[in-house]
Amino acid sequence: MKCPLCGCKTFYLKDPDDEYETYEFELHDGKVAFGPDVDSESCPEVCHDTETYCDKCSWHGAFDELADNSD
Ligand SMILES: [Zn+2]
Repeated sequence: MKCPLCGCKTFYLKDPDDEYETYEFELHDGKVAFGPDVDSESCPEVCHDTETYCDKCSWHGAFDELADNSD
């Protein structure tokens, strides 16, 4: 799983209650691994339709779309 535009494997989510709050994560074997700065108790749950943003380019879309680009 990687960004369909740039191939990056680092992404972030936005807090549904606060668009300026972001939660960075990487994908390891298709699983979400939040960064060390992320409080695992307060981060939002990642669902198949969670809006996901690439850390390196302008790509964003549903988490599911990343799975579709798996190779
Ligand atoms: Zn990208």
